Amino acid sequence: FDIRDYKPTGKERDFENALRPLQFEDFSGQDKVVDNLRIFVKAARLRAEALDHVLLHGPPGLGKTTLSNIIANELGVGFRVTSGPVLDKPGDLAGVLTSLEPNDVLFIDEIHRLSPVVEEYLYSAMEDYRIDIMIDKGPSARSIQLDLNPFTLVGATTRSGLLTAPLRARFGINLHLEYYEDSTLTKIILRSAKILGVPCDTEAAGEIASRSRGTPRIANALLRRVRDFAQVKGSGRIDLKIAQFALEALNIDRYGLDQIDNKLLCTIIDKFRGGPVGLTTIATALGEDPGTIEEVYEPFLIKEGFLKRTPRGREVTELAYRHLGRSRWNEQKT
Ligand code: ADP
Repeated sequence: FDIRDYKPTGKERDFENALRPLQFEDFSGQDKVVDNLRIFVKAARLRAEALDHVLLHGPPGLGKTTLSNIIANELGVGFRVTSGPVLDKPGDLAGVLTSLEPNDVLFIDEIHRLSPVVEEYLYSAMEDYRIDIMIDKGPSARSIQLDLNPFTLVGATTRSGLLTAPLRARFGINLHLEYYEDSTLTKIILRSAKILGVPCDTEAAGEIASRSRGTPRIANALLRRVRDFAQVKGSGRIDLKIAQFALEALNIDRYGLDQIDNKLLCTIIDKFRGGPVGLTTIATALGEDPGTIEEVYEPFLIKEGFLKRTPRGREVTELAYRHLGRSRWNEQKT
Protein backbone atom coordinates (compact mmCIF):
# COMPACT_ATOMS: atom_id res chain seq x y z
CA PHE A 1 0.00 0.00 0.00
CA ASP A 2 2.02 2.96 -1.26
CA ILE A 3 0.48 6.05 0.26
CA ARG A 4 1.80 8.62 -2.18
CA ASP A 5 0.80 6.70 -5.26
CA TYR A 6 -2.74 6.50 -3.97
CA LYS A 7 -4.85 7.94 -6.79
CA PRO A 8 -8.55 7.48 -6.30
CA THR A 9 -10.46 5.84 -9.16
CA GLY A 10 -13.88 4.22 -9.39
CA LYS A 11 -15.26 3.37 -5.97
CA GLU A 12 -12.43 5.15 -4.17
CA ARG A 13 -13.22 8.28 -6.16
CA ASP A 14 -16.87 8.10 -5.01
CA PHE A 15 -15.63 7.65 -1.48
CA GLU A 16 -13.45 10.74 -1.78
CA ASN A 17 -16.28 12.80 -3.25
CA ALA A 18 -18.59 11.77 -0.44
CA LEU A 19 -16.12 13.20 2.05
CA ARG A 20 -15.49 16.45 0.17
CA PRO A 21 -16.58 19.52 2.15
CA LEU A 22 -18.90 21.79 0.14
CA GLN A 23 -18.64 24.94 2.27
CA PHE A 24 -15.81 26.95 3.82
CA GLU A 25 -17.41 26.07 7.17
CA ASP A 26 -16.56 22.37 6.75
CA PHE A 27 -13.08 22.91 5.35
CA SER A 28 -10.53 22.60 8.17
CA GLY A 29 -7.08 24.18 8.18
CA GLN A 30 -5.36 26.48 5.65
CA ASP A 31 -6.78 29.33 7.74
CA LYS A 32 -5.06 32.19 5.94
CA VAL A 33 -6.01 30.91 2.52
CA VAL A 34 -9.62 30.39 3.56
CA ASP A 35 -9.90 33.77 5.32
CA ASN A 36 -8.69 35.54 2.19
CA LEU A 37 -10.95 33.54 -0.11
CA ARG A 38 -14.00 34.26 2.04
CA ILE A 39 -13.41 38.00 1.63
CA PHE A 40 -12.78 37.83 -2.12
CA VAL A 41 -15.85 35.65 -2.63
CA LYS A 42 -18.05 37.94 -0.57
CA ALA A 43 -16.84 41.01 -2.46
CA ALA A 44 -17.45 39.36 -5.84
CA ARG A 45 -20.96 38.41 -4.71
CA LEU A 46 -21.73 41.95 -3.54
CA ARG A 47 -20.71 43.33 -6.90
CA ALA A 48 -22.38 40.46 -8.77
CA GLU A 49 -19.16 40.05 -10.74
CA ALA A 50 -16.94 37.11 -11.61
CA LEU A 51 -14.30 36.46 -8.96
CA ASP A 52 -10.72 37.19 -10.03
CA HIS A 53 -8.83 34.20 -11.42
CA VAL A 54 -7.33 32.04 -8.66
CA LEU A 55 -4.13 30.01 -8.73
CA LEU A 56 -3.85 27.28 -6.08
CA HIS A 57 -0.51 25.59 -5.68
CA GLY A 58 0.79 22.94 -3.31
CA PRO A 59 1.34 19.18 -2.99
CA PRO A 60 -1.30 16.67 -4.11
CA GLY A 61 -4.23 15.80 -1.84
CA LEU A 62 -4.23 19.03 0.20
CA GLY A 63 -7.62 20.27 -1.02
CA LYS A 64 -7.14 22.24 -4.25
CA THR A 65 -10.06 20.59 -6.03
CA THR A 66 -12.15 20.77 -2.87
CA LEU A 67 -11.49 24.49 -2.40
CA SER A 68 -12.34 25.37 -5.98
CA ASN A 69 -15.61 23.45 -5.64
CA ILE A 70 -16.33 25.39 -2.44
CA ILE A 71 -15.54 28.69 -4.19
CA ALA A 72 -18.17 27.92 -6.86
CA ASN A 73 -20.73 26.85 -4.24
CA GLU A 74 -20.17 29.92 -2.11
CA LEU A 75 -20.39 32.16 -5.16
CA GLY A 76 -23.60 30.39 -6.09
CA VAL A 77 -22.39 29.68 -9.64
CA GLY A 78 -21.78 26.63 -11.81
CA PHE A 79 -18.60 24.55 -11.59
CA ARG A 80 -16.78 22.91 -14.49
CA VAL A 81 -13.76 20.65 -14.10
CA THR A 82 -11.06 19.89 -16.63
CA SER A 83 -7.28 19.50 -16.65
CA GLY A 84 -4.17 20.60 -18.50
CA PRO A 85 -3.55 17.29 -20.27
CA VAL A 86 -7.23 16.93 -21.30
CA LEU A 87 -7.27 20.32 -23.07
CA ASP A 88 -5.21 19.03 -25.92
CA LYS A 89 -6.25 21.42 -28.71
CA PRO A 90 -7.46 25.04 -28.77
CA GLY A 91 -10.84 23.71 -29.91
CA ASP A 92 -11.18 21.73 -26.66
CA LEU A 93 -10.65 24.90 -24.68
CA ALA A 94 -13.03 26.91 -26.87
CA GLY A 95 -15.70 24.26 -26.35
CA VAL A 96 -15.44 24.47 -22.58
CA LEU A 97 -15.21 28.27 -22.45
CA THR A 98 -18.21 28.90 -24.68
CA SER A 99 -20.37 26.60 -22.57
CA LEU A 100 -19.86 28.61 -19.36
CA GLU A 101 -22.71 30.60 -17.82
CA PRO A 102 -21.99 34.11 -16.49
CA ASN A 103 -19.56 34.10 -13.52
CA ASP A 104 -19.13 30.29 -13.54
CA VAL A 105 -15.99 28.71 -12.11
CA LEU A 106 -13.79 26.71 -14.47
CA PHE A 107 -11.31 24.49 -12.65
CA ILE A 108 -8.20 23.45 -14.59
CA ASP A 109 -6.19 20.85 -12.67
CA GLU A 110 -2.50 20.37 -13.50
CA ILE A 111 -2.51 23.69 -15.27
CA HIS A 112 1.28 23.52 -15.70
CA ARG A 113 0.67 20.76 -18.27
CA LEU A 114 -1.28 22.89 -20.74
CA SER A 115 0.22 22.87 -24.20
CA PRO A 116 1.78 26.21 -25.24
CA VAL A 117 -0.83 26.75 -28.00
CA VAL A 118 -3.76 26.19 -25.67
CA GLU A 119 -2.13 28.40 -23.05
CA GLU A 120 -1.83 31.19 -25.61
CA TYR A 121 -5.59 31.03 -26.24
CA LEU A 122 -6.26 31.14 -22.54
CA TYR A 123 -4.55 34.53 -22.19
CA SER A 124 -7.20 36.57 -24.01
CA ALA A 125 -9.97 34.48 -22.48
CA MET A 126 -8.71 35.31 -19.00
CA GLU A 127 -7.99 38.93 -19.73
CA ASP A 128 -10.85 40.11 -21.96
CA TYR A 129 -13.30 37.16 -21.86
CA ARG A 130 -12.71 36.77 -25.57
CA ILE A 131 -11.10 34.18 -27.84
CA ASP A 132 -9.96 34.28 -31.44
CA ILE A 133 -10.55 31.04 -33.23
CA MET A 134 -9.36 30.06 -36.68
CA ILE A 135 -11.93 28.64 -39.01
CA ASP A 136 -11.23 26.95 -42.29
CA LYS A 137 -7.82 26.04 -43.67
CA GLY A 138 -5.59 27.26 -46.46
CA PRO A 139 -6.38 30.48 -48.37
CA SER A 140 -9.89 30.83 -46.92
CA ALA A 141 -8.64 30.51 -43.34
CA ARG A 142 -9.72 33.40 -41.16
CA SER A 143 -10.03 34.09 -37.50
CA ILE A 144 -13.25 35.09 -35.80
CA GLN A 145 -13.61 36.61 -32.40
CA LEU A 146 -15.93 35.03 -29.85
CA ASP A 147 -17.16 36.89 -26.79
CA LEU A 148 -17.36 34.78 -23.67
CA ASN A 149 -19.37 35.14 -20.50
CA PRO A 150 -17.30 36.48 -17.60
CA PHE A 151 -15.88 33.53 -15.66
CA THR A 152 -13.40 32.64 -12.95
CA LEU A 153 -10.54 30.36 -13.80
CA VAL A 154 -9.22 28.37 -10.86
CA GLY A 155 -5.93 26.78 -11.81
CA ALA A 156 -4.32 24.11 -9.64
CA THR A 157 -0.74 22.93 -9.80
CA THR A 158 1.73 20.89 -7.80
CA ARG A 159 4.55 22.49 -9.79
CA SER A 160 4.13 26.25 -9.75
CA GLY A 161 7.79 26.53 -10.79
CA LEU A 162 6.80 25.21 -14.22
CA LEU A 163 4.19 27.91 -14.90
CA THR A 164 5.16 30.47 -17.50
CA ALA A 165 5.41 34.09 -16.36
CA PRO A 166 2.59 35.34 -18.65
CA LEU A 167 0.17 32.71 -17.32
CA ARG A 168 1.09 33.34 -13.71
CA ALA A 169 0.62 37.11 -14.20
CA ARG A 170 -2.99 36.60 -15.25
CA PHE A 171 -4.08 35.25 -11.88
CA GLY A 172 -5.25 38.01 -9.55
CA ILE A 173 -5.29 35.67 -6.55
CA ASN A 174 -2.33 33.42 -5.87
CA LEU A 175 -2.51 31.01 -2.92
CA HIS A 176 -0.24 28.30 -1.57
CA LEU A 177 -1.56 25.29 0.36
CA GLU A 178 0.61 23.90 3.16
CA TYR A 179 0.81 20.44 4.70
CA TYR A 180 -1.71 20.07 7.56
CA GLU A 181 -0.95 19.89 11.26
CA ASP A 182 -1.86 16.59 12.93
CA SER A 183 -4.51 18.31 15.06
CA THR A 184 -6.30 19.53 11.92
CA LEU A 185 -6.04 16.12 10.26
CA THR A 186 -7.53 14.60 13.42
CA LYS A 187 -10.56 16.88 13.02
CA ILE A 188 -10.87 15.94 9.34
CA ILE A 189 -10.70 12.22 10.17
CA LEU A 190 -13.37 12.54 12.88
CA ARG A 191 -15.62 14.39 10.44
CA SER A 192 -15.09 11.73 7.76
CA ALA A 193 -15.76 8.92 10.26
CA LYS A 194 -19.03 10.61 11.19
CA ILE A 195 -20.08 10.82 7.54
CA LEU A 196 -19.15 7.14 7.08
CA GLY A 197 -21.09 6.24 10.22
CA VAL A 198 -18.11 4.59 11.96
CA PRO A 199 -17.53 5.36 15.61
CA CYS A 200 -13.94 6.59 16.01
CA ASP A 201 -12.08 7.62 19.18
CA THR A 202 -10.12 10.87 19.16
CA GLU A 203 -6.80 9.15 20.05
CA ALA A 204 -7.34 6.70 17.20
CA ALA A 205 -7.98 9.58 14.79
CA GLY A 206 -4.81 11.22 16.12
CA GLU A 207 -2.82 8.05 15.44
CA ILE A 208 -4.08 7.91 11.86
CA ALA A 209 -3.43 11.65 11.46
CA SER A 210 0.20 11.36 12.56
CA ARG A 211 0.89 8.83 9.80
CA SER A 212 -0.91 10.70 7.03
CA ARG A 213 1.99 12.78 5.70
CA GLY A 214 0.16 16.03 6.49
CA THR A 215 -2.31 15.17 3.72
CA PRO A 216 -6.13 14.89 4.02
CA ARG A 217 -6.37 12.54 1.03
CA ILE A 218 -4.03 10.08 2.75
CA ALA A 219 -5.83 10.55 6.08
CA ASN A 220 -9.17 9.63 4.51
CA ALA A 221 -7.67 6.69 2.64
CA LEU A 222 -6.08 5.32 5.82
CA LEU A 223 -9.33 5.81 7.71
CA ARG A 224 -11.06 3.67 5.14
CA ARG A 225 -8.53 0.86 5.53
CA VAL A 226 -8.57 1.05 9.32
CA ARG A 227 -12.36 0.87 9.23
CA ASP A 228 -12.05 -2.50 7.46
CA PHE A 229 -9.84 -3.82 10.26
CA ALA A 230 -12.22 -2.47 12.91
CA GLN A 231 -15.16 -4.19 11.28
CA VAL A 232 -13.46 -7.51 10.62
CA LYS A 233 -11.03 -7.85 13.53
CA GLY A 234 -12.65 -5.62 16.14
CA SER A 235 -16.02 -4.46 17.37
CA GLY A 236 -16.58 -2.03 14.52
CA ARG A 237 -15.42 0.89 16.64
CA ILE A 238 -12.08 2.48 15.72
CA ASP A 239 -10.11 2.71 18.95
CA LEU A 240 -6.41 3.34 19.44
CA LYS A 241 -5.56 -0.38 19.64
CA ILE A 242 -7.24 -1.36 16.40
CA ALA A 243 -5.84 1.76 14.66
CA GLN A 244 -2.30 0.85 15.71
CA PHE A 245 -2.81 -2.77 14.75
CA ALA A 246 -4.16 -1.84 11.31
CA LEU A 247 -1.44 0.72 10.57
CA GLU A 248 1.25 -1.81 11.52
CA ALA A 249 -0.38 -4.47 9.35
CA LEU A 250 -0.53 -2.01 6.45
CA ASN A 251 3.13 -1.21 6.97
CA ILE A 252 2.54 2.52 7.33
CA ASP A 253 5.60 4.40 8.52
CA ARG A 254 5.37 6.03 11.95
CA TYR A 255 5.96 9.45 10.41
CA GLY A 256 4.04 8.80 7.21
CA LEU A 257 7.23 8.59 5.13
CA ASP A 258 6.90 6.63 1.91
CA GLN A 259 9.31 4.89 -0.45
CA ILE A 260 10.32 8.05 -2.26
CA ASP A 261 11.02 9.87 1.01
CA ASN A 262 13.12 6.97 2.22
CA LYS A 263 14.97 6.69 -1.08
CA LEU A 264 15.85 10.38 -1.05
CA LEU A 265 17.14 10.27 2.54
CA CYS A 266 19.04 7.00 2.03
CA THR A 267 20.67 8.30 -1.16
CA ILE A 268 22.02 11.33 0.66
CA ILE A 269 23.21 9.14 3.54
CA ASP A 270 24.75 6.37 1.44
CA LYS A 271 26.19 8.30 -1.47
CA PHE A 272 26.97 11.68 0.05
CA ARG A 273 27.70 10.91 3.70
CA GLY A 274 24.49 12.62 4.77
CA GLY A 275 25.36 15.85 2.96
CA PRO A 276 25.64 18.73 2.53
CA VAL A 277 25.14 17.98 -1.13
CA GLY A 278 23.81 20.11 -3.99
CA LEU A 279 20.32 19.66 -5.38
CA THR A 280 21.44 18.84 -8.93
CA THR A 281 23.87 16.21 -7.62
CA ILE A 282 21.06 14.52 -5.68
CA ALA A 283 18.81 14.76 -8.73
CA THR A 284 21.38 13.03 -10.92
CA ALA A 285 21.89 10.27 -8.35
CA LEU A 286 18.14 9.66 -8.14
CA GLY A 287 17.52 10.05 -11.89
CA GLU A 288 14.96 12.75 -11.12
CA ASP A 289 14.37 16.30 -12.21
CA PRO A 290 15.70 18.85 -9.64
CA GLY A 291 12.45 20.87 -9.79
CA THR A 292 10.39 17.82 -8.83
CA ILE A 293 12.68 17.10 -5.90
CA GLU A 294 12.54 20.70 -4.73
CA GLU A 295 8.80 21.24 -5.15
CA VAL A 296 7.34 17.79 -4.56
CA TYR A 297 9.65 15.59 -2.49
CA GLU A 298 11.56 17.95 -0.20
CA PRO A 299 8.96 20.21 1.43
CA PHE A 300 7.44 17.51 3.65
CA LEU A 301 10.85 16.17 4.71
CA ILE A 302 11.99 19.68 5.58
CA LYS A 303 8.79 20.49 7.45
CA GLU A 304 9.09 17.32 9.53
CA GLY A 305 12.76 17.95 10.26
CA PHE A 306 14.33 15.07 8.31
CA LEU A 307 16.20 17.29 5.89
CA LYS A 308 17.79 20.74 6.06
CA ARG A 309 18.57 23.27 3.34
CA THR A 310 21.95 24.81 4.12
CA PRO A 311 24.03 27.30 2.09
CA ARG A 312 26.22 24.36 1.05
CA GLY A 313 23.37 22.08 0.03
CA ARG A 314 20.96 19.54 1.50
CA GLU A 315 21.79 17.82 4.75
CA VAL A 316 20.10 14.85 6.42
CA THR A 317 19.31 15.43 10.12
CA GLU A 318 19.88 13.36 13.24
CA LEU A 319 16.16 12.53 13.28
CA ALA A 320 16.43 10.94 9.84
CA TYR A 321 19.39 8.79 10.93
CA ARG A 322 17.51 7.66 14.00
CA HIS A 323 14.27 7.01 12.15
CA LEU A 324 15.99 4.99 9.44
CA GLY A 325 18.01 3.11 12.03
CA ARG A 326 21.28 4.31 10.53
CA SER A 327 24.40 5.61 12.18
CA ARG A 328 26.30 8.59 10.90
CA TRP A 329 29.01 7.97 8.31
CA ASN A 330 31.89 8.85 10.64
CA GLU A 331 30.44 6.49 13.24
CA GLN A 332 30.10 3.74 10.64
CA LYS A 333 33.83 3.97 9.96
CA THR A 334 34.83 3.44 13.59
P1 ADP B 1 -6.06 18.11 -4.43
O1 ADP B 1 -7.00 18.67 -5.46
O2 ADP B 1 -5.22 19.16 -3.78
O3 ADP B 1 -5.22 16.96 -4.94
P2 ADP B 1 -8.52 17.25 -3.12
O4 ADP B 1 -9.24 18.55 -3.05
O5 ADP B 1 -8.96 16.29 -4.19
O6 ADP B 1 -6.94 17.50 -3.23
O7 ADP B 1 -8.64 16.57 -1.68
C1 ADP B 1 -8.45 15.18 -1.48
C2 ADP B 1 -9.40 14.65 -0.43
O8 ADP B 1 -9.09 15.23 0.82
C3 ADP B 1 -10.87 14.95 -0.69
O9 ADP B 1 -11.64 13.82 -0.37
C4 ADP B 1 -11.23 16.04 0.28
O10 ADP B 1 -12.51 15.85 0.77
C5 ADP B 1 -10.22 15.87 1.39
N1 ADP B 1 -9.81 17.18 1.93
C6 ADP B 1 -8.84 17.97 1.43
N2 ADP B 1 -8.68 19.08 2.17
C7 ADP B 1 -9.60 19.00 3.16
C8 ADP B 1 -9.92 19.85 4.27
N3 ADP B 1 -9.25 20.98 4.50
N4 ADP B 1 -10.92 19.47 5.10
C9 ADP B 1 -11.57 18.30 4.89
N5 ADP B 1 -11.29 17.45 3.87
C10 ADP B 1 -10.32 17.79 3.02
